[in-house]
Amino acid sequence: MATLKGAQARHKSRSPLVFDVSRLGRRPGAMMELHQTVPSPARIGLDLVAIERDADLDLDLRMESVSEGVLVTGSVHAPTRGECSRCLTPVSGDVEITLTELFAYPDSATESTTEEDEVGHVVDQTVDLEQAIVDAVGLTLPFAPLCSADCPGLCSECGVPLATAEAGHHHDLIDPRWAKLAGMAPASAVDPEEGNTPESGAGAS
Ligand SMILES: [Zn+2]
Ligand SMILES: [Zn+2]
Repeated sequence: MATLKGAQARHKSRSPLVFDVSRLGRRPGAMMELHQTVPSPARIGLDLVAIERDADLDLDLRMESVSEGVLVTGSVHAPTRGECSRCLTPVSGDVEITLTELFAYPDSATESTTEEDEVGHVVDQTVDLEQAIVDAVGLTLPFAPLCSADCPGLCSECGVPLATAEAGHHHDLIDPRWAKLAGMAPASAVDPEEGNTPESGAGAS
């Protein structure tokens, strides 16, 4: 039994997020702590910001045997990289998630009464934390990361990031149709004979 278990664990433990929980021995109350840094097996996150593959995942977890399975609680901390959703400047940061995840024993009531994907499962005396971490990170990271809370975005004329452009960056070019309007007093109506207002321009000429 021990050798078979070992062989199975080895073949399953390709991912650094698969952990052998055989030490818990299915004795409710048995507990082990896991303080470990492992390389992320994949890019984990969202389109604009994520934990890069091979980035350090700092695991600070407790694995506890409960009657239905193994309860994993604790936190995972990792660096993130992405880009600002307004100005596309590279942004680095970090993310911390907390996990509370039950991995059901193969023959437990939880296992037999839940859908395949609702809970994790203890497989060959191991638990695979990857999906739980992927889910939690996805919920924690911002969909629209920013380089700073007040990022001014890109210049609408030339596309440079305004945060790093020279102070007062602007363009004097004004659309010719508006140049005339810009010179007028705000209250004055547009001279109809000009036939040149944005509203009438297209149809009148
Ligand atoms: Zn930005
Ligand atoms: Zn510009």
